Amino acid sequence: MDSIREIVVLSGKGGTGKTSVASSLAYLAGKEAILADCDVDASNLHLIMGPDIIKKELFYGGEVAQIDIETCIQCGKCKEVCRFDAISFSAGVHTIDNLSCEGCGYCSRVCPTGAITMMPRLSGEFYISGIRNGSQMSHAKLFAGGENSGKLVATVKKNAYRMAKERGCDYLITDGAPGIGCPVVSSLSGAKVALLVTEPTMSALHDLKRVLFVVRRFNAIPLLVINKSDINEAVSEEIKIFAKSEKIEHLADIPFNTAFVESMGKARIVAEENQFLKGIFESVWEKAKEVADSSVQN
Ligand code: SF4
Ligand code: SF4
Repeated sequence: MDSIREIVVLSGKGGTGKTSVASSLAYLAGKEAILADCDVDASNLHLIMGPDIIKKELFYGGEVAQIDIETCIQCGKCKEVCRFDAISFSAGVHTIDNLSCEGCGYCSRVCPTGAITMMPRLSGEFYISGIRNGSQMSHAKLFAGGENSGKLVATVKKNAYRMAKERGCDYLITDGAPGIGCPVVSSLSGAKVALLVTEPTMSALHDLKRVLFVVRRFNAIPLLVINKSDINEAVSEEIKIFAKSEKIEHLADIPFNTAFVESMGKARIVAEENQFLKGIFESVWEKAKEVADSSVQN
C-alpha cells in the first residue's frame, strides 16, 4: 500500500474538542503521520503542538486595487463606481483603503488613464514545522481581513501531502475547519476518512447532520466520536440512533473531562497529559487507521 491515507477531523461547529482530538491522534501517530492544520481562520493547533518553523512563505489570496498617483488625473470615475466605498478623495488625491477593497476590479476598468492596477493581496503566511512527536506539521496564518481561506487550506494540504511523501508517512491527520463552508470543502478534498467530533447538544446534532451531508459528497467514510458524552445522555442516545441509521461507525464516547481545558491552558496535548483519555484516543486512532487502510484496499 503506497498511497497516503488522509483522516480529517471535523466537527460541524466549534468547541466540541476537535483540535484536542486531532492533536492527540497526531501525538499517538508520531512519525507515521504528518499533521495539517486546515482551521486557518482561527488556527490554534500550533499553540498545542509548539511547532519549530522550518520554512515560512507568504500567501497571496485575491487582489487589491492600487492607484499610480503619477498617472491619475483625479477624475473621480473610480470612486463613483466602487460599491464598497473603498476609494476616498482627500486633499486633492484619490486613495484606496486596502481593507475595504474587495478586489472586484471595476475601478480599473473605468479608469481613463490606466492608473489602477490589480495587485495580488498579501493575505497570510504558511509554514512547514517540526513538532515534538518527531514528525512535522503544515500550517498557516490568515491575516486580519485576509481572504480566500479555502485557497490557503488547499495550500496547507498540498504541502502536507508533499511532506508525507518525502518522509514516507502513511497517514495525514487534518484538523479541519469548523462549519461547512469553503475551508471545510478544501479540508475534505482527498480525505479517505472523516472523523466527526460532536457533543450531546441539539445544536451539535444539527451541525453534525449538515457536515455529514458534505462528507458524503466527498465520498469520505464518516466515523463518530461523542465528546462530553455524559453531559446529556438522552441527546447522546439520540446521536447514536442517528449514527446507526446513517451507518456511521461510532468509535468512542468521551466522558466530560477537565483535562481538555487544562491541557489547552498548559499548551499540552490531551493524550500526553491524561492516561485515561490516552487509552480512548489509542483505540480511536487504531480504528481510524484500519478504516482508512481498508478504503484503499477496496
Ligand atoms: S477593486 Fe472594486 S472594491 Fe476595490 S477599489 Fe476597485 S471598485 Fe472598489
Ligand atoms: S479613475 Fe483613474 S484617473 Fe480617475 S481618479 Fe480614479 S485612478 Fe485617478
